[in-house]
Amino acid sequence: MDKPKVVVFAPGSQASLDEMEAAGCELVLGSATWSDPTGDSQEDFVKMAAHADVLVGTSIKGTRINKDTMMASENLRIIAKYTVGVDEIDVEEATELGIVVTHAPTEANWGGVVESTMTMMLTLLKKTRERDAYLKAGKGWRAEELTGYYIGQREDGYEGMTIGIVGLGRIGSRYSEFMKPWKVRLVAYDPYAPDERFEELGVERVDYDTLLKESDVVSFHVILTKETRHMFSERELGLMKPSAVVINTSRGPVIDEKALIKALQTDQIAGAAMDVFEHEPVELDNPLLKMDDRVFITPHMAANNYGAGIGPGIVWGTADVLRALRGEVPEHVFNPEVLPRWKERFEGRSLI
Ligand code: NAD
Repeated sequence: MDKPKVVVFAPGSQASLDEMEAAGCELVLGSATWSDPTGDSQEDFVKMAAHADVLVGTSIKGTRINKDTMMASENLRIIAKYTVGVDEIDVEEATELGIVVTHAPTEANWGGVVESTMTMMLTLLKKTRERDAYLKAGKGWRAEELTGYYIGQREDGYEGMTIGIVGLGRIGSRYSEFMKPWKVRLVAYDPYAPDERFEELGVERVDYDTLLKESDVVSFHVILTKETRHMFSERELGLMKPSAVVINTSRGPVIDEKALIKALQTDQIAGAAMDVFEHEPVELDNPLLKMDDRVFITPHMAANNYGAGIGPGIVWGTADVLRALRGEVPEHVFNPEVLPRWKERFEGRSLI
């Protein structure tokens, strides 16, 4: 029997590669790395994917895993991600072709994003970088422009800020739990989340425009879909308070970056913190890199922490791949509607 072919389009860890090799897989490695997730061109990817049984990896930014790639092999049984987010995969096409897509929303990954969101919010509102830089530059002791913003409600009647969460899923929900003890007003927009989730979290359900008009902090936690791509552009910026800040740790294309840059340049909003960009790695001539402290940017590392980050997700992804190769339904399926068809094609047909 030929060895099953596993294309690792963005390798996760040596331990994962060793485990798949020990199980008898032939590995083909793509060129994407964690530090540069651009990866192979569409043409090269399609060539690599020929006769593959598995496509697996972390994120790849330079190409989509589309129908052409999937159709390069009639044996393809699983596309597995080591991370949260399957936005580079045409999932509907995969379902149509009877291919299972898995992902790895481990708390080690998404929980870190919540902590980073808090950090980004506080960095902007408490002017931590400005205060530190002022002192180190020997500009003096205190200065009026270093005054921060008070976030939570106070006994003296100050009502506290309104925090607007767009997408009340894993990360958005945990962010609301983190903010609750601060006694802020929490509002969220998520047309797909059930009312019970809002009630349990003590979050007010509002429509998108109301959230944009009334929030002091607008934080994006949606998945990237056709609907959420550029859901924040010129019109939405126009609805925000001039004193409000926006945070994006979800996916870059959720925000129309050109419109955001223009709004910041014209003081239409007060600031922005971003971990994700429309093009990653971010181009060196992106104006966001040249902006003052009203902008705080990080290199898509909101989830990365020692002992956490994508490490546990690599373990999940590798296990899903090996289960699929044994002809067993993998555990972390993103497109469960494919399963009846997938079982007909692959269940009980082990390749390892
Ligand atoms: P999730 O699937 O648990 O939650 C996403 C929420 O968005 C869902 O509740 C869904 O109903 C909602 N949603 C979908 N379409 C919407 C729309 N049009 N308007 C408003 N809400 C909508 O996902 P999650 O695990 O919480 O992840 C959230 C985002 O964070 C994803 O984009 C993910 O890729 C990203 N992420 C980023 C990093 C990082 O390192 N920066 C790490 C992990 C996850």
